[in-house]
Amino acid sequence: MSTPRATPAARSRKASGSAAKPRAAAPAEQPGEDALPDEAEVAALLLQATTLWNNPRLAHTRAALLRLATAPPQVLLFEGGTAQERLNTANIWAALTNCPNASPQNGQGPCLECPVCMRCITHLHRDIFFLDGAAASIKIDDVREVRSVLGEPPREATRRVIILHEAQALVEAAANALLKSLEEPRPATSFLLLAPQRERLLPTLVSRSMVVTLPWPRAEHSAAALRNELAPWEAALCQFMLTGQGLFSLTSSKGSVTPALVNNITNLCRHALVGCLQALHTGAKPTEGLEALFARLPAPRLRMVDEILAECQESLVYMANPTIVLEWLATRLYLLLPR
Ligand SMILES: [Zn+2]
Repeated sequence: MSTPRATPAARSRKASGSAAKPRAAAPAEQPGEDALPDEAEVAALLLQATTLWNNPRLAHTRAALLRLATAPPQVLLFEGGTAQERLNTANIWAALTNCPNASPQNGQGPCLECPVCMRCITHLHRDIFFLDGAAASIKIDDVREVRSVLGEPPREATRRVIILHEAQALVEAAANALLKSLEEPRPATSFLLLAPQRERLLPTLVSRSMVVTLPWPRAEHSAAALRNELAPWEAALCQFMLTGQGLFSLTSSKGSVTPALVNNITNLCRHALVGCLQALHTGAKPTEGLEALFARLPAPRLRMVDEILAECQESLVYMANPTIVLEWLATRLYLLLPR
């Protein structure tokens, strides 16, 4: 059966960012091929896509997509940005490679107005498959369902597009099944892996992908500014990672820990993680602060740092007590450091 499995409504709920909530029960029946999503919903999704496509911050991404669409690679990995931006980018790719009004070789993107664009953006197109790792882990049966149609040409699209949203939610068996599909040439198919950072995915998946890095969120709040502002917290966190002491005296002073502060500290950690990963690629050796401590971690533990940070930020979204989140973060980092 090749009908995509989630309803448009379920998809757009997820698309609007309600990650980590349990997936709604599977619908008893799929909508008919001609079922129309709610008009307001379609308008909102198209507006999101248009806004993203015109966002000056994403000019590089736009240029990269247009360039890639002239000879579409079979596997693309979208990392960086926010989850919403990665999903929008994937939807745009589906429209760009199928819209009759698009002309990538002339720098012309999808019109985002025609019926094809509309069905791509809303995932109502029968050749667009959407596996939603934000709602639940992506299991082997989900991947098998997609694999079952790969031998056939797309039903009506120029290009079949398979979107794996928050692909870090692929369970290992599913990732391995997917890998088999990526290894077989599928000239009219794009697999889109969406993840916060490539390190969250199996290296074998990454090595088969063309990676497009969206600008990191809050790039305007530079790592340097954040470090200055948070210098005492960075020092305390480093000391805690090394000795298991020195942080709780700061967190216990009443009113000192706000959700914004903890969010900034996790961003600081994220900057340090990115810096450390870049240093790994260039062979440089970070000498100070969190970056230097992260550099002591073996690669699988670096991936865990990323997961820990994602969990912290998610907890903040769900209004967890920021002091508890910060102390949990510090404790997890302390336990990761080999000693
Ligand atoms: Zn169009």
